Amino acid sequence: MTVKRRKSMKLRTKTLLIFSLFTLTVLGMLWLFQVVLFGRLFEAVRVREGRSVANRIEVALAADTEDELSVAIQDAAFEKTACVSVYRIVNTVATKTADVHANDECRIHDIVNMAELLHRLYIAAESNGGEAVERVALTSFNNPMQTDGQQSDTAFCIKLVQGTQGEEYLILVNVEVYPSVSTVSSLRQQLIWISLTIALMAAVIAFLIANSLSRPIARLNEGAKQLAKGNYEADFLVSGYRETEELGETLAYAAEELSKTETLRRELIANVSHDLRTPLTMIGGYAEIMRDIPGEVTKDNLQIIVDETHRLSSLVNDLLDVSRLLSGTEVMQAKRFDLSRLTVDAGTHFQNLLGNNGYTVTVEAGDAAYVLADEKRIQQVIYNLIGNAVNYTGEDKRVEIRLTVEDGRARFSVTDTGNGIRPEDMPRIWERYYKVDKVHKRAAVGTGLGLSIVKNILDAHNAKFGVSSELGQGSCFWFELPLS
Ligand code: ADP
Repeated sequence: MTVKRRKSMKLRTKTLLIFSLFTLTVLGMLWLFQVVLFGRLFEAVRVREGRSVANRIEVALAADTEDELSVAIQDAAFEKTACVSVYRIVNTVATKTADVHANDECRIHDIVNMAELLHRLYIAAESNGGEAVERVALTSFNNPMQTDGQQSDTAFCIKLVQGTQGEEYLILVNVEVYPSVSTVSSLRQQLIWISLTIALMAAVIAFLIANSLSRPIARLNEGAKQLAKGNYEADFLVSGYRETEELGETLAYAAEELSKTETLRRELIANVSHDLRTPLTMIGGYAEIMRDIPGEVTKDNLQIIVDETHRLSSLVNDLLDVSRLLSGTEVMQAKRFDLSRLTVDAGTHFQNLLGNNGYTVTVEAGDAAYVLADEKRIQQVIYNLIGNAVNYTGEDKRVEIRLTVEDGRARFSVTDTGNGIRPEDMPRIWERYYKVDKVHKRAAVGTGLGLSIVKNILDAHNAKFGVSSELGQGSCFWFELPLS
């Protein structure tokens, strides 16, 4: 059956898409900060630097000598590439006491109307607690044509400081707040190259990752398709990622199991056909003899026909049981019953059946052991296990059946003296169709279904079960049910 579903995006396309989105986001952020917000960031940094220069000069004003003051101002100005003028104000008369030119783009030394501007900056600082940042239009300066075009003003960081003898100091620090055209254009150049490199690298990395991800998956997919067509030799060996390797191993395991089941199924069909044909031939043969030869209608001949009919019906029943149990349509009918009685009854049945054939079937069971289970199915388990023990027991034809009670559990076991089971066959005997002896022997007729039926029934009861076996010594099959 094929299920129609919406086609999802290819792994490769999706990986490429995610990488592209990621790259675009990174590049977008880069351009946002480097182009759109760069002017504002530049201005904020320059103003902060201007203020720090003004603060350093305020500290330097306490210096003892004029020389020390002048050196301190020079250091502060050159360190931050800012031009500085310091005015000493006594009785509203301002005298310039220091003037440092550390920035080629400064305006401070070129003011058109000095008195008016000084007054304006003084008022701005005074009304703002002694400190202010003021933008001054380039028209206030003698030489506005030196500017970069888009630049229309410059910034002054102003600080008013009280002197020790009643005088006042007005500190002016001039910083340019627009990045120069060359700075901007070199930044843009860099940005273009960085963007191109990132985009290219992202594309290559995305392509490589997508490829290395999709290649093993595509291979596994191809193998799974082969498997679906019945090719159990399909190749699931992939390398690269643990997940895909594990998936490959799981698929290889599934293929191996499917191939085993397939082999077993073929063997079963061969065996079942053989098993069906043998009793049918016998029944047909004996019926013809009895019809054609007078005096051959004997009790023994009729018994052979009856036995072969039983054999046939038990084979058909086994097949039906397996298909019912495996399809899950069988519901266990739990009821309280005495497992001890059931064991003794089964033992007696086999003793009566086989006593004349030299078999010694012993039964050991104590007091009543009540359990809650499907009586008919548990009886089937017991019959199957005893039947196997009888089939596979040794020359002495001994089978021991036991029912013990321990730790609130009833334990059924049946022991034979046969050849035992090889350790490598132990885990597989519970599989359906599995037969240790591949050569079909009439003496040990079996379909390979008995233990699979046992396992399914006991699993449905959540019962513990198992087998211990020693080669050449015999086997002991057992199961346990909780007492009810
Ligand atoms: P079968 O119908 O062939 O007996 P089962 O499913 O009952 O199938 O058993 C599977 C296989 O397990 C058997 O073919 C046999 O080789 C092995 N087996 C089962 N019971 C015994 C036992 N008591 N002793 C030795 N081998 C056993």
